[in-house]
Amino acid sequence: RARAEKVPLVVYDRQMSTQAAERLALVQRLRDALERGEFELAYQPIHRLSDLGVVSVEALIRWRRPDGRCVSPLDFIPLAEESGLIVPIGAWVLEEAARAYRRLADAGRGDVSIAVNVSAVQFESGISRDGLRALRAGAGLPVRALHLELTESVLLRNPDAARVLMLQLHEDGVCLSIDDFGTGFSSMAYLRDLPLDHLKIDRGFVRDVASDPRSAAICRTLIGLGHGLGLSVVAEGVEDAAQLDWLRAEGCDLVQGYHLGRPMPLDALLARLAGLESS
Ligand code: C2E
Ligand code: CA
Ligand code: CA
Ligand code: CA
Repeated sequence: RARAEKVPLVVYDRQMSTQAAERLALVQRLRDALERGEFELAYQPIHRLSDLGVVSVEALIRWRRPDGRCVSPLDFIPLAEESGLIVPIGAWVLEEAARAYRRLADAGRGDVSIAVNVSAVQFESGISRDGLRALRAGAGLPVRALHLELTESVLLRNPDAARVLMLQLHEDGVCLSIDDFGTGFSSMAYLRDLPLDHLKIDRGFVRDVASDPRSAAICRTLIGLGHGLGLSVVAEGVEDAAQLDWLRAEGCDLVQGYHLGRPMPLDALLARLAGLESS
């Protein structure tokens, strides 16, 4: 993939040069945003289906512009990936998640782990066993504090290297999830061979589960597949009680979605966890 730094200086036509210039400008704005501390993490609870207790939270990056506007990761993560900036941005996400875990632990909720999204480029060149060990040692974190959510694209680039790193992390006890399962380059072989802990069913399959037999068939199969492989299955994008009931009846393990909680700032999460505890 072309990195922004390597965008050819040969300009083929005006249209192309405008696009390239806009992309370069956005890459520069992202670099500045990282330096100026304009990124934030929002945390969305992941609940056990059995009793709806919160077992973990997913950290989701937000870009808060100086004017207060919030930019969705969908609008800048792809460019961050292409330009390689996802490596320093991803490193910041891990450090921030580590700080957040300390606050959870200090509030008596060290049982709640934080799941961090890791892009393929970042997994390939920004993550290492030693790097994660150093992060945990520096912040005094138990290994269960941080989970990694990987998409199928991690395996597209360099499957052997990705597999080796996953095995090393697994040896250390790091929990690994396969995210958005079924939406990308899916292969049963890697599900069989990789040391995964969780399978996350993409929101696109969960959405119509209570009304569309085809979506239901896919979700039922994914739950069975995950369980057959000893994985715990997470359904994301749960927006109503009908989906929740369906997932419970089908034996799904964990759920996440607007019906149970939107992504929120850390302080709101702490308040919510404290409220749940005392209720
Ligand atoms: P994802 O990992 O699949 O994250 C789930 C997305 O679904 C999040 O969008 C979340 O806010 C949204 N969501 C959760 N529950 C519901 C629901 O009930 N209904 C609907 N409609 N949406 C729901 P978000 O925060 O906009 O993130 C989008 C994507 O950006 C993520 O998809 C992930 O791929 C990427 N991303 C977010 N943060 C990071 C990060 O720190 N690093 C990397 N590499 N990627 C990130
Ligand atoms: Ca995710
Ligand atoms: Ca997902
Ligand atoms: Ca998704």
